[in-house]
Amino acid sequence: MRIVILGAPGSGKGTQARFLEERYKIPHISTGDILREAVTQGTELGREAKSYIANGKLVPDSVIIDIIAERLKGVDCKRGFILDGFPRTVTQADALQNILAKMDFKINMVLNLKVSEKTLIRRLSGRRVCKGCSANYHVEFQPPQIFETCDYCNEGLTQRDDDKEEVVRQRLKEYLTKTSSLCVYYKNQGLLEEIDGGKEILKVSKEVLSTLERE
Ligand code: AMP
Repeated sequence: MRIVILGAPGSGKGTQARFLEERYKIPHISTGDILREAVTQGTELGREAKSYIANGKLVPDSVIIDIIAERLKGVDCKRGFILDGFPRTVTQADALQNILAKMDFKINMVLNLKVSEKTLIRRLSGRRVCKGCSANYHVEFQPPQIFETCDYCNEGLTQRDDDKEEVVRQRLKEYLTKTSSLCVYYKNQGLLEEIDGGKEILKVSKEVLSTLERE
């Protein structure tokens, strides 16, 4: 099963990708997580990506495409994978197709999580992320069992710098100008499935599952 999850920042891509990872035992590949980890580690990639992320801009296609090409070679990707946050431009989508074609793989389905702008902003401003395992929480909709502590690894939670209001606006702008056209791209390939991502997490997961298992 090879799945791409599309959707604006805050649409719940990471949450649903984690759910699918658990359910199907295939890796959840988040380019945002890979880049944030590189920033934390202070690697060359991290130094390059840092200011783009901090300003809510997309990192250059060439940088991210190489990362994904390498990651998809992993043995854990043989049975499938869930891509979260990639592709984000038509150039990335074309590159993904080429990378997969060389491996004799194809994307099975693209899920687009649709959420209103009002809900996106509410979700992003209340989002908290585990410093250890990057699990997502929300102060109101999905609080951890123990205040500001991760349910999975007991690490503390933090707010992503790019979830602050100014940067959120820029990220939404990048989404609208560069990423949203991918819905048409995948619709034309007959791969796109629209999901109402504005509902509660469990309801969205249910719709995601029934869509995937309808195939
Ligand atoms: P995310 O966690 O998916 O919201 O990504 C956080 C940030 O990482 C984005 O705002 C971009 O700066 C960068 N990023 C993640 N994935 C990509 C991508 N596929 N192409 C370009 N930049 C990306």
